[in-house]
Amino acid sequence: MHCPFCRHADSRVVDSRTSDDGLSIRRRRQCPQCNRRFTTIETASLSVVKRSGATEPFSREKIVNGVRKACQGRPVSDDDLAVLAQRVEENLRASGSAELDAYEIGLAILGPLRDLDEVAYLRFASVYQAFSSLEDFEAAITVLRAENEAARAAAEAGDATGQPADA
Ligand SMILES: [Zn+2]
Repeated sequence: MHCPFCRHADSRVVDSRTSDDGLSIRRRRQCPQCNRRFTTIETASLSVVKRSGATEPFSREKIVNGVRKACQGRPVSDDDLAVLAQRVEENLRASGSAELDAYEIGLAILGPLRDLDEVAYLRFASVYQAFSSLEDFEAAITVLRAENEAARAAAEAGDATGQPADA
């Protein structure tokens, strides 16, 4: 590993620790020439298999670009998109698969996008799942409503039983 400051061809590892999620290793390195320190992060490589069969490295930027259009006109910031891309990458890494295709990546986007903005989620899902009619939208919205209501009911049940009443 070249020193990023003076380009010296060698560096010494002074500390090495695994991240809490176990998915990466951070190494503190010191350059023997200029003595400056820098950090490297080592992760298993994550590849995307394209339709042509070629592979390319997974890129959060491509995830952001892929969902940006669905988020047009919605209250979604660049920071939100960056967090979404990070969640997608974490989900994909947690799946333990080193090579992913467009379908798996789309699937990994749906959950975090839904948490972010339901309209953007429906737009993205309509392209990803190739909705062809109003009925497809209706079915997706029905599922969303049912799940939102179930989540709300669960939260209310939690409120009712989880907290002691104020005296
Ligand atoms: Zn150096």
